[in-house]
Amino acid sequence: MEIFGQNVFNQDVMRERLPKAVYKNLKKTIDEGLPLDPSIADVVATAMKEWAVERGATHFTHWFQPMTGVTAEKQDSFITPTDNGIVMDFSGKELVKGEPDASSFPSGGLRATFEARGYTAWDCTSPAFLKEEADAITLCIPTAFCSYTGEALDKKTPLLRSMEALSTQALRILRLFGNQTATRVTSTVGPEQEYFLVDKSYFLDRLDLVMAGRTLFGAMPPKGQEMEDHYFGSIKERVVSYMKEVNTELWKLGVTAKTQHNEVAPGQFEVAPIFETTNIATDHNQLVMDVLKRVAIRHDMICLMHEKPFAGVNGSGKHNNWSMSSSDGQNLLDPGKTPHENAQFLTFLMATIKAVDEYAGLLRSSCASAGNDHRLGANEAPPAIISMFLGEQLAEILEQIEKGATKSSKSGSEIKIGVTTLPALPKDTTDRNRTSPFAFTGNRFEFRMLGSTFSISGPNIVINTIIAEALKQFADTLEGSKDFTADLEKLLQETAKKHKRVVFNGNNYSDEWVEEAKKRGLLNIPNTPEALKELVTKEAVDLFVAHKVFTEKELHSRYEIMVEQYVKTLNIEALTMIDMAKHSIMPAATSFATEVAQSISAVAAVSSKIDVSAQTELLEELSNNLSSMNKNVKALEKVLEDALNITDIDTQAAAFRENVFAKMLELRADGDALEKIISADYWPLPTYAEMLFNL
Ligand code: ADP
Ligand code: MG
Repeated sequence: MEIFGQNVFNQDVMRERLPKAVYKNLKKTIDEGLPLDPSIADVVATAMKEWAVERGATHFTHWFQPMTGVTAEKQDSFITPTDNGIVMDFSGKELVKGEPDASSFPSGGLRATFEARGYTAWDCTSPAFLKEEADAITLCIPTAFCSYTGEALDKKTPLLRSMEALSTQALRILRLFGNQTATRVTSTVGPEQEYFLVDKSYFLDRLDLVMAGRTLFGAMPPKGQEMEDHYFGSIKERVVSYMKEVNTELWKLGVTAKTQHNEVAPGQFEVAPIFETTNIATDHNQLVMDVLKRVAIRHDMICLMHEKPFAGVNGSGKHNNWSMSSSDGQNLLDPGKTPHENAQFLTFLMATIKAVDEYAGLLRSSCASAGNDHRLGANEAPPAIISMFLGEQLAEILEQIEKGATKSSKSGSEIKIGVTTLPALPKDTTDRNRTSPFAFTGNRFEFRMLGSTFSISGPNIVINTIIAEALKQFADTLEGSKDFTADLEKLLQETAKKHKRVVFNGNNYSDEWVEEAKKRGLLNIPNTPEALKELVTKEAVDLFVAHKVFTEKELHSRYEIMVEQYVKTLNIEALTMIDMAKHSIMPAATSFATEVAQSISAVAAVSSKIDVSAQTELLEELSNNLSSMNKNVKALEKVLEDALNITDIDTQAAAFRENVFAKMLELRADGDALEKIISADYWPLPTYAEMLFNL
């Protein structure tokens, strides 16, 4: 209790340190998501600075989230010269707005370098905080980042816009249900974060982990995760003490780190905070990833955030638990207990179903990256096909709605919208389908497709906006209604008919589902270059423009940035593989082959009667694999060069996927075959057994 939030300039600190009128003004701004009143900026800045300096801060920074996916900061000290020395100063202007040079951040053609100025503006709904790194303390001000002409250059700006869109449309629906008190609806998110830990010494000996964050070579050890003994197992002491420090750091930052456990793969773990408003959850998830990485180093470990650090065992994702809550304290995805609450719940639920079905492609694209391609559709995590899990009871209710509430359910009750009460839905975990990409879990949806490295902003921008659109269409239909209950029932019935195809309660990993989904006409997009195209379809552009979340230009720039990131990632991986093959694996194989050859001649020299067939066979196998590796290195170099020469980015991304990636797999197979036959004394890389089991 003493340390929680101690590094946050939160509402308690504000109340204590700001003049009453200023505090009230600022609180209103925060609660209602309004722009900051410039007349109070100086007072707030001074209070913030005094608080920060008392705690040892020397610098401040506008902390933002450019398109790189990580956070960015440029620190300035509070030092200001005076006639007789210096003072520590921080003005309202410095708090509210920053002007970092934006030329070195990805902009997808939005900003020419001659007008490289970017602007950061305080998102005062997300509190300022102190970051402690070694013994340096910095005041961080969460900001949005845009260009001189107002285009978003970051992940925060469109997220805030999407939250606004959702609020506007959800309020229209609440008003239809007679709610006049709610003034805002915010989306809430609780992201579960998965990660791996490896000993630092192994990490430093693996160029692939250092360069690409994942192993590009590596034969499977005798044991993987098949014993199912790691998941929820007792946590090793070294990891316990790491987690303890992670929690302490997070609690100081006001992050409600709550749940922690061993994950499925050896060396894999998870941490989850308690849900919050989406933009704060987004900031906090960035801090979680940052703290996980930083604290690991203090424990001589490296935190691998990559979606698939090790082939053959589970990869890491991020489960995005999502709901909507109104300013009068309702969770809009909670079924409630009265017929009235139930009807409202079913309306929001059906809007979600409609949104997910109509914009499945966008949801898929929001989770597309080179790293996540190793998970989605690869027989783990959710598949690449978007479907929704509702659970048995809700699925049955959906069926009844579709049939117009005439048939009674198995439980005997009959559902009439706004008249009858829904049976209580189970909230326990037994009813949960762990294979569904978009699962209802009693009072929220869990979107499970996100990769572990992702900023959660992208997927939540999509979720907020598509649901805003579905709610908008509902509100447009119902607002003029003379008989609300009857019209609502009709609307929900039509929606159920049209969109029930996206509901699937079975095993998402099965081959039958792939077939069935195809019959239902659901999208199954296998890889990133294909998935990203969904971001710039006409429907997507119309949607985002209509809700003022992205301009068409912004959307295209994002598409370009993401395709480029895909290409760059694969390029780095391919170059790293070539380097490792040439500089460590092939030389090791050659030396070992020489030793085997020398052994053959040495033994044969003693007596021609001694059997050297084992050594000979080994030498043959070594030489064959070596020769295959040599050919595949050359071939990879060639396809890489060809791909890099392609100027059209779509064609280039496809070439990376089809040619470069395919060759990388072949080269990996050569390396893994060699690893299995080369003497441990000669093998130059830490093995999977060491990395996964030695913590
Ligand atoms: P599980 O692993 O069973 O899915 P966890 O406890 O690991 O469950 O994570 C569940 C997450 O869902 C937590 O972060 C929790 O705070 C969050 N959550 C609960 N209610 C809501 C809600 N209304 N909106 C968003 N997230 C929620
Ligand atoms: Mg979960």
